[in-house]
Amino acid sequence: MAVKGKVLIVEDDRAICSFIRRVLEANGYEAVIVSTGREAISLMASHCPDVVLLDLGLPDMDGMDVLKSLRRWSLMPVVVVSARTDEREKVRALDAGADDYITKPFGTSELLARIRTAIRHTRTTSANEAIARDNRFTARGLTIDYGKYRVYIDGKDACLTQNEFKLVALLGRYAGRVLTYDYLIREIWGPNKACDNQILRVNMANIRRKIEKNPAEPQYIFTEVGVGYRMIEGD
Ligand code: CA
Repeated sequence: MAVKGKVLIVEDDRAICSFIRRVLEANGYEAVIVSTGREAISLMASHCPDVVLLDLGLPDMDGMDVLKSLRRWSLMPVVVVSARTDEREKVRALDAGADDYITKPFGTSELLARIRTAIRHTRTTSANEAIARDNRFTARGLTIDYGKYRVYIDGKDACLTQNEFKLVALLGRYAGRVLTYDYLIREIWGPNKACDNQILRVNMANIRRKIEKNPAEPQYIFTEVGVGYRMIEGD
């Protein structure tokens, strides 16, 4: 099997380390493991991993400081691995330059999806390949047509308003990744819009009514409680 990428695992919990290593190696990734922030900072530079899985609770320093130190010189993708369920912590990590986060305990498929997405987004510089090639994004029955500014569900026009389209289009460009409420508001309504999640919630409720079979159990756009929204990965 060709190696799909090198993953640096920064984690001091041995059980979690060996679980992650097993999953990654079984799925064609190379895994490099370190257990302290200091080692992480030095190996990030010498090993140039394709993605870093970064635990926030390290024995010698705060994982956030490892992230900030890395971001001074590199945009290498970082997925924060955290036991903390505090939403503010996740938002703080994303604002400090993390590409995504995953909360312990997590399953195999969630872990692999986060890594796949993080690596794909570096290799294609934010816009994903399908969008660049076909000017469209598809996931199950959903199609975002970036040329026509339209969203189709099973071939039928979902009749989104302009702002609704912008929201779905942006989530589609970063499919698989969580985009924070603040980021979405800034991108759609501009930097001067007071950070008001209500307008976002109203738009999202309308979008879901138009694109989801059951808006209470969305299959395309998921809510990351207290953090933001995430579009399903493309086909
Ligand atoms: Ca830890």
